[in-house]
Amino acid sequence: MTIPGLAAARLWAAMRFPYLATGVFGATVIAEPGSGTVSVDEGWRMHADPELTGEWTAAQLGSVLVHHVCHLLRTHGDRAKLAGVGPDEASEWVRAADAEINDDLISAGLDLPGDPVIPRALGQPDGLLAEQYYEATRAGKGPRGDNPRRLSEWLDCGSGADGQPGGDGGLPRWQAELLRRQVAQDVIAHGKQPGAVPAGLLRWAAETLSPKVNWRRLLAAELRRAISEVAGAVDYSYRKPSRRSAVTGDVILPALRRPVPEVAVVCDTSGSMTEDLLAMVLAEVEGLLRSLGLARRLRVLACDTAAAPAQRVSSARQVTLVGGGGTDMGIGIAAAAALRPRPAVCVVLTDGYTPWPSGGPKGMRVVVGLLGDGAPDAPEWARSVRVHAA
Ligand SMILES: [Zn+2]
Repeated sequence: MTIPGLAAARLWAAMRFPYLATGVFGATVIAEPGSGTVSVDEGWRMHADPELTGEWTAAQLGSVLVHHVCHLLRTHGDRAKLAGVGPDEASEWVRAADAEINDDLISAGLDLPGDPVIPRALGQPDGLLAEQYYEATRAGKGPRGDNPRRLSEWLDCGSGADGQPGGDGGLPRWQAELLRRQVAQDVIAHGKQPGAVPAGLLRWAAETLSPKVNWRRLLAAELRRAISEVAGAVDYSYRKPSRRSAVTGDVILPALRRPVPEVAVVCDTSGSMTEDLLAMVLAEVEGLLRSLGLARRLRVLACDTAAAPAQRVSSARQVTLVGGGGTDMGIGIAAAAALRPRPAVCVVLTDGYTPWPSGGPKGMRVVVGLLGDGAPDAPEWARSVRVHAA
């Protein structure tokens, strides 16, 4: 049995929310006559009562699909379990989860039937997480559940939203995880056009592709080394002034300034880099940016056998990963070393299937992030760190 209008609803959803299309088409929709609702389980299956959905427009059914996909993307089922939500709290949790989803999607064009929950209905501001809405509504409630439940008529969002035992089956967990990462990549890609993607979804995507390396700690150590090398060189030339430094007597000596370390990232974009590895690249770039602070901007070079011009970015969303040919990370390192101002540290993000130069560049430290399981070793002259998939 099919759901009338499903194709039109999916099309509406893919047109209005193109960055969620992979998720919308990745979910299976199963007719469940008599259920009186549309719910979703953790295996990416939606169970829909055709009699109910038959009353909806394509935009309304499409919006319900998008809404439920967002429950899955945001792993509301798992998070409900972590928050200790049992059968008695399930409907309250779902209201909180709905508020997390609906706040900025409704202004982006989500057209849900009935009376969708928005943060204001819970007396809360936009932009919080389900856990925060849940705590707030529980804190504001009388001792014995005396708050009125005002569920929309279709809103039994299902085990995919509340984590209560549901039907087993559907997509295995690892496939669901790949689907989530794919959608997160799509969201980041669309987010390059300002205003194209709601801010809450962008935050979700950046967190989903979360970096695995503690760049703050790693870079701090490498930058210290780089700076002490530079400072040492300056100290040396200061003690033995050359004729040249005597001529330029008025210049501020490097040792007297606070060094401003520059960091460049070379991203492997050769053909062996799969979409999933490229998503990891973006996640680690985001982590590098965060570790350097918002003020500092990072220069990013995409590299296969040629290095693309350096991009100055303040967010991984701005990075364009062009390439797709053979691999030579040595080209990328040389291009990074030629940048002005010269980076103190060059981070190379690669699957490791690349030739390397026989020695490291002078005056620039190289850190190699080896992505994926089973990447070959990096050369000894570089500091290397392994980045495993989730
Ligand atoms: Zn919901």
